[in-house]
Amino acid sequence: MRRALMLCGCRLQFFVPIAVLLLIGAAPAHAQSNEFKFNDAHFHLTNNVQEGPNIRDFLNMMGSKAGRVALFGVPLQQEWSYRVDGDRTPTYYLHTDAPLYYYSFTDAWIAMAYKSLAREQQARLDPMITGFNPTDMYAADHIRRVLETFPGVFTGIGEFTIHKEFVSAKISGQVASLEDPALDRILDFAAEVGLVVLIHNDIDVPFAKEGSEPAYLHQIKGLFARHPNVTIIWAHMGLGRLVRPGKSHFADIEAILRDPNFNHVYFDISWDEVAKYLVATPEATQITADLMRRYPDRFLFGTDSAAPKDEPQYSKVFSVYKPLWQSLDAQTSRNVRLQNYERIFDEARRKVRSWESAHVLVPGSN
Ligand SMILES: [Zn+2]
Repeated sequence: MRRALMLCGCRLQFFVPIAVLLLIGAAPAHAQSNEFKFNDAHFHLTNNVQEGPNIRDFLNMMGSKAGRVALFGVPLQQEWSYRVDGDRTPTYYLHTDAPLYYYSFTDAWIAMAYKSLAREQQARLDPMITGFNPTDMYAADHIRRVLETFPGVFTGIGEFTIHKEFVSAKISGQVASLEDPALDRILDFAAEVGLVVLIHNDIDVPFAKEGSEPAYLHQIKGLFARHPNVTIIWAHMGLGRLVRPGKSHFADIEAILRDPNFNHVYFDISWDEVAKYLVATPEATQITADLMRRYPDRFLFGTDSAAPKDEPQYSKVFSVYKPLWQSLDAQTSRNVRLQNYERIFDEARRKVRSWESAHVLVPGSN
């Protein structure tokens, strides 16, 4: 049927209106970016047990502060083991020793929430696919299946996790690795479709010996180098709750920024646990601001808020970064808060919609 439609040219007639609608959808976001404080490249609508605010309540939290948001659930479901925790219901991965497992339904949940919105509300969100196991060679097939089931919805994949303090070792099954062919297969597919990739990978292990090369720096650069055609956002600049920036951290990040082989790599500064390092002192703030000034197109603000209850909780990280915003010149600040997001996610939207036009039979197209 798909082939028949392509032969008779009916698909073409159908896809022109889609393109027009996409343009209409994207237009208000551009027009509005002057009025908003930030776009958010990193937001979890749900927590580790798949609970969170209604998407309409979340749009109210975005209000006139957050223009656009990269929206996803949490791929790792925390198991409630009655044997281990009894009636003490864990909602966060640190609340229990019970394992985490990959919860693919999160993608359907996010897609249905997005589809329940009006078009102008949808235009402010970029849903992301996260519900795959990055050690599974079939993970790329899951991503393809999500795009086929929910065409017109997703812009990228992530946040997904390879190495993360406390988390990696708790996941049932194989420990993830940056050198897993399954991960290469995922990124190859992201390149084919044009999906933006948001990856969490700690640059180092917690309590690393000062002066030693960060445990995962070499491997993640290898991953970036193997996938030059994928737009990759390295979440949290590789930092974590205990993975603090070592003496060489900013030099290591700058080496990536400076290297033309890594022009496709970006960094988000999301998570209050990361903000606590980047604006810890006036010196730390200055180092971060200087790096951003030298590479103003390569950083994105994100909240990493998960299942917020209200607006102050949602936008807390933006306030924590106040010293950074005050240290940046107006244009660099606008790039990090607003424009880099628009450029990267607009391009990904365009590419993914165009891949879907060629590969997915959109409902209602016949
Ligand atoms: Zn993360």
